[in-house]
Amino acid sequence: MRRKLAAGNWKMNGTAASLAELEALKSLLPADTPDVVICPPAPLLFRATQAAKGTSIRIGAQDCHMQASGAFTGDISADMIADTGATYVIVGHSERREAHEERDRDVRKKAKSAWAADLTAIICIGETLEDHEANNTLDIIAGQLAGSLPGEMTPTNTVIAYEPIWAIGTGKVPTLDQIVEVHDFIRERITTRYGAPVAELIPLLYGGSVKPDNAAMIFQAENVDGALVGGASLKAADFGPIISALA
Ligand code: PGA
Repeated sequence: MRRKLAAGNWKMNGTAASLAELEALKSLLPADTPDVVICPPAPLLFRATQAAKGTSIRIGAQDCHMQASGAFTGDISADMIADTGATYVIVGHSERREAHEERDRDVRKKAKSAWAADLTAIICIGETLEDHEANNTLDIIAGQLAGSLPGEMTPTNTVIAYEPIWAIGTGKVPTLDQIVEVHDFIRERITTRYGAPVAELIPLLYGGSVKPDNAAMIFQAENVDGALVGGASLKAADFGPIISALA
């Protein structure tokens, strides 16, 4: 059985006071809770791991450098993230791909550096609005999968998040049919490259404007094992119901 996972990406939002939302989330977790990961900004990682102690909530970072250490001013290595007690890291988010010109090759290297530090990599892929409208989605996804996923991927070191860029922060969500099509396609591609035993167990997340009122619709898709949630992960009152919809 594949594990279910709800991951919250706080992006560049939050200060120490925001950890009150993590505290509040503890009491909203359903009895049979899926895995829950909160990815706060890097300065909050250590405090977040302390706040999550003794609960099933795990903490993740939003990016890591591809090198283990060195002269990279302002960057953060996977080892440093692990040192805070965090166990996950998002790599290849579309905002990083766009604003920091990260390519598939960089994302692949970042995933490997995450693994070297014993972090689980949440590898993000997704097409632009232009590609979506030109019906190029599956081609783009195939290319990103081929380029961003390292050959050594396993169901324990990796989670894949499909996030159509046009759905991120826009309130627009693909139809259930579109979500099913892309997630089925991703599972198929992974089966071809890694074999069924790996592909069957890799969690596939959907991301892009997931809210309490559309989560149940999205989770109907057989190959959707959870969500990567941005805006609606900032408040426990929003993220809690999304987690419950997955349980
Ligand atoms: P959103 O962001 O839920 O605010 O659309 C999702 C993401 O970028 O991970």
